[in-house]
Amino acid sequence: MLEKLVYPVIPYAVALLISGSLALLILVLAWPRRLAPGGQPLIWMMVAIMVWCWTYALHWLSGSHSARFFWLNATYFGAVSFPIFLLVFVAQITRQDGWLRGRNFYLLWIVPGITLLAMWTDPLHSLFSGRQPGAEASNFLSGGPLFWMSIVYSYLLVLAAYGLAVIGFFRLRGTIYRWQIATVLTGMLIGMVVLVLELRGFIFLPGLDLTPITFTLISPFLLSSLVGFQMLKVIPVSLDAVIDQMQDGVLVINSENKIIEVNRSAAGLVNSRRNELVGKPLDVFGNVLPDLKGELVTQLHRSQVHLTVPTPMDLEIQVHPLIGRRGGYRGTLITLRDITHIKAVEGELRRINTVLTLQLEQIAQLQQSLQEQVIRDPLTGLFNRRYLDESLPKDLARASRDEGQVSLLMIDIDFFKQINDTYGHASGDLVLKDLAMLLDQSMRQGDTVCRFGGEEFLAVMVDTPLPAAVRRAEQMRITVAVKPISIQSGAVNVTISVGVATYPQHGEQVQELIHLADLAMYQAKSQGRNQVCVAGEPLP
Ligand code: GH3
Ligand code: MG
Ligand code: MG
Repeated sequence: MLEKLVYPVIPYAVALLISGSLALLILVLAWPRRLAPGGQPLIWMMVAIMVWCWTYALHWLSGSHSARFFWLNATYFGAVSFPIFLLVFVAQITRQDGWLRGRNFYLLWIVPGITLLAMWTDPLHSLFSGRQPGAEASNFLSGGPLFWMSIVYSYLLVLAAYGLAVIGFFRLRGTIYRWQIATVLTGMLIGMVVLVLELRGFIFLPGLDLTPITFTLISPFLLSSLVGFQMLKVIPVSLDAVIDQMQDGVLVINSENKIIEVNRSAAGLVNSRRNELVGKPLDVFGNVLPDLKGELVTQLHRSQVHLTVPTPMDLEIQVHPLIGRRGGYRGTLITLRDITHIKAVEGELRRINTVLTLQLEQIAQLQQSLQEQVIRDPLTGLFNRRYLDESLPKDLARASRDEGQVSLLMIDIDFFKQINDTYGHASGDLVLKDLAMLLDQSMRQGDTVCRFGGEEFLAVMVDTPLPAAVRRAEQMRITVAVKPISIQSGAVNVTISVGVATYPQHGEQVQELIHLADLAMYQAKSQGRNQVCVAGEPLP
């Protein structure tokens, strides 16, 4: 009852209620960033402050001794948990929270657990209050051993948080994180000053523990560090969470080649967790990025690498230097994309393409060979009549255009049947082949000789007027007549009869000219063979 007269109870309670409400406001503002590093512990910190402030306010407003005692004890739920969340918060925003996950996090709660237990069972042992059971217990600065253990532990946690912030501040040099940490450091520094002053006996408001209000006042700094340094404010989830979820590996190094950000996918490539890698040199990625050294780190480029361990993998590496606002090099963003599948498909496509190209070549060769087969005579190798059907109209058309002349020579071997009959069909074939060669050799360039029928040949002489054609036919006849042709059983001499017809002098149509040359050849036969006759010329 005495305290109610001494202390301004209502203003204290109002200040604490406002402080708790401010924590609630910060919680609401932090909620959209709950997935960012530091987001969750910040929210829990605000919950702790709310519990702390509001229960403390109720303490001041309570009328009875037992109620005051009850609410004072209740403040401890907030008081013991706040430092733990502060430590986790700082560890997370400075990317040093790897050791604070899972079991270690729960170990942090042992001392607070003992504190709370001792406090609520204090009437049995007084280890917490250090007083006689039932004594007034609102002045904690003269508490028992467990009370002091709790106080020391809490301050150690706050100091550890401060230490982590300072380490992080120096480790994350040259990045936006540094400013984020600077903001937190500033807030914490203000809080520390107030608390140390209070601990040293510098009493601002007599009887009122300022700790929860102080922590509330530094919370906006913590919040702004969370909200103010989001690279992309438009997306409701944190960029860190997005990057961490990305399938592509993301790696950010600072200007000293130290890793300042790495997502799960990239960390997996070196069998590590992201928190183990932050602060390490880029060399830890030596296996994955063997060529990324020296100047290459600061040059925009793209390359590929094939990994054999732990599993065969193809990676596409994109290196993107980060340039600060004032144009200086700040670090490098490296993305690593698994292109194993694309590479495999590419390889398969290349293989299929090779096979197809080969097949196309084969088809082209086959086509050419078929074409040859279609226009060549298999026995003599000369062009056949089918070729003539195509080429002769063209020759005549050209001659018509150029006002030139084309002469046709119809050539038939004399008494060929006898050779077959005397020496056999095979020898007859040999004679045909040899003679074909002889005729072909006597052709000029541009002229052609074809096997027209069994032992009949047609020679086409372009740009050759009749007299020249007759002269050359005569030479041909003599060449054949004097040259013995070897066969299996020795050698034979054959002669030829030749009929000549010339375009346009004797006719302008293909069939007409062939027919006239044929008639002339028969005329040569009938005149005694081994001679040359010209179309349309009467018997001499
Ligand atoms: P000529 O022309 O002087 O009147 O008398 P010929 O004995 O040559 O008579 P013809 O031209 O009618 O005879 C053609 C002979 O040529 C008939 C056939 O047995 C022979 N012959 C046709 N084609 C071939 C062939 O590919 N190989 C062989 N060995 N003989 C053939
Ligand atoms: Mg014949
Ligand atoms: Mg004949």
